Amino acid sequence: MKIAIAGAGAMGSRIGLMLHQTGNEVILIDRWPDHIKAIRENGLIGEFEDHEVVAHLPIYSPEEIVEDHANVDLVVALTKSMQLEAMFQDIQPIIGKETFVFCLLNGLGHEETLSKFVPRENIIFGTTTWTAGLSGPGHAKLVGSGSIEMENLEPKGKAFTLEVLEVFQNAGLNPIYSNNVRYSIWKKACINGTLNGLCTILDCNIADFGSMSVARGIIETIVGEFAAVASAEGIDLDQEQVIQAIEATYDVKTQGLHFPSMYQDLIRNHRKTEIDYINGAVWQKGKMYQISTPYCAFLTQLIHGKEELLNAK
Ligand code: NAD
Repeated sequence: MKIAIAGAGAMGSRIGLMLHQTGNEVILIDRWPDHIKAIRENGLIGEFEDHEVVAHLPIYSPEEIVEDHANVDLVVALTKSMQLEAMFQDIQPIIGKETFVFCLLNGLGHEETLSKFVPRENIIFGTTTWTAGLSGPGHAKLVGSGSIEMENLEPKGKAFTLEVLEVFQNAGLNPIYSNNVRYSIWKKACINGTLNGLCTILDCNIADFGSMSVARGIIETIVGEFAAVASAEGIDLDQEQVIQAIEATYDVKTQGLHFPSMYQDLIRNHRKTEIDYINGAVWQKGKMYQISTPYCAFLTQLIHGKEELLNAK
């Protein structure tokens, strides 16, 4: 399959590399000059737990993407949430009538953004438990394992989605066809919408957050706000199940000692966060449906305040 990875950062490098290793024609699209230079000179280096892989993948900035790469079969979207729209404005030339887009970003509201650029029957949504990091330009740190849930937005897209599932299966990405990917997206947004922002503002890891006597009350309130807005969008979140999934991460034997990705982006690397697409999206959607979401509004503003204090880029 001819596949373009739109946003070849940490996760884009992982997915692109694993798809390339099983014989797909993969091109990377990214606009980080040092990353492009490193991959062109030395290949993309994947640092797995027990071995290293070097993949000589073509990489382009969006400005270099022209009709030469027209009509790829699949674009896998893996920018940060706030970069998605700009990416799709720039890569219009490679999106043909038959091209599908598979969105694997975290967060809410991407359906609306992608529908501006691609017919809904050509859109696949997913969530993933894979993780990835970059240890420097051209170097992806690829520890652990994961899986991917995927589902076409419209029934017409199912046949091609199953083809994509097979391609991802062959690449060892452990895909599962979902019958309700929107539910999974909201559930993951709840996990991120509690642990990401709260650990960042409280400057603590997940286990420390969970050890606070007020933790349960805070997450119940935030999950309640997410559930009220999800319900207005036709998604019936099981709040107790979501809270259990959040509390399961407190265990120090699993994720407890981790600092969530938002903490790493903002506190360690002074990068802007995806808060507007998590708690911020619930706040804005809540306004539209006249649902009050004070905790999401407060947390969104606190994170933006911290971004300003740290001069995050
Ligand atoms: P990242 O910042 O490492 O990668 C994004 C890449 O997109 C960057 O390399 C950036 O240069 C590029 N980019 C952004 N805008 C661009 C544009 N307009 N044109 C060209 N290139 C552009 O981020 P990531 O960690 O890979 O995360 C991507 C998405 O996946 C996020 O929504 C994140 O929440 C989600 N996610 C990440 C992980 C993880 O472990 N890293 C796990 C699950 C989900």
